[in-house]
Amino acid sequence: MARPVEPELRGARLRLVEILREKGISDISVLRAFEMTPRHQFVPTGVRHRAYEDAPLPIGSSQTISQPFIHATYLQLLKLTGHERVLEVGTGSGYQTVLLAHLAAQVFTIERISALYQSARDNIQRAGVNNVSMLLGDGTVGWSAYAPYDAILVGAGGPSVPQPLLDQLAEGGRMIIPVGERDEQKLWMYTKRGGEVTSQELAAVRFVPLLGHHGWSADQA
Ligand code: SAM
Repeated sequence: MARPVEPELRGARLRLVEILREKGISDISVLRAFEMTPRHQFVPTGVRHRAYEDAPLPIGSSQTISQPFIHATYLQLLKLTGHERVLEVGTGSGYQTVLLAHLAAQVFTIERISALYQSARDNIQRAGVNNVSMLLGDGTVGWSAYAPYDAILVGAGGPSVPQPLLDQLAEGGRMIIPVGERDEQKLWMYTKRGGEVTSQELAAVRFVPLLGHHGWSADQA
């Protein structure tokens, strides 16, 4: 599925993996996905020298690539086994998409900003994964054509949980989503069992706004 790890900046990448391990990420397949994914190829040239810091970075269009520790926490919580069909809302740079592609069977990702969608497509192609499908549009309505999903990751914070995403979650499926105010949210995990959905609050977080039909109004962006 993936090409061999390219040697460029491998040392920096291994140091990032070590930082994630020290912060409590212990899932070997998650750490391996970080080792295989060249984050410097997903950020603009102006911030490339900071690509392996454990920090969020600007990716253009007023958006950010999240802190690696946040991505790693999401991925560790999902406990993916390699067999899952995953929906990601908010492709951004495509970095987390590629991490997911290393950990799941099929990844479906949606981005609403055309410029980011185009550059993420190039980034994902360059990473050499072939199990990703992309859509330009409003991820708050999900992607019903390929539902249900074993896992759903939302990379932007909304005022509430979009009902279409809950509807598109498979039996036994898990969704991680930031919910709250525009500039401050709580990270929640929703699990569907026996048709019932239960929720668990995980942490305080700060994500860019989830804009769309079941999110914040794009007029207020
Ligand atoms: N995980 C991404 C990465 O690795 O680069 C970063 C995601 S960034 C924090 C959040 C993204 O969600 C932005 O690119 C933003 O445009 C996108 N977004 C916000 N609302 C959306 C919506 N309704 N549908 C799809 N994408 C959305």
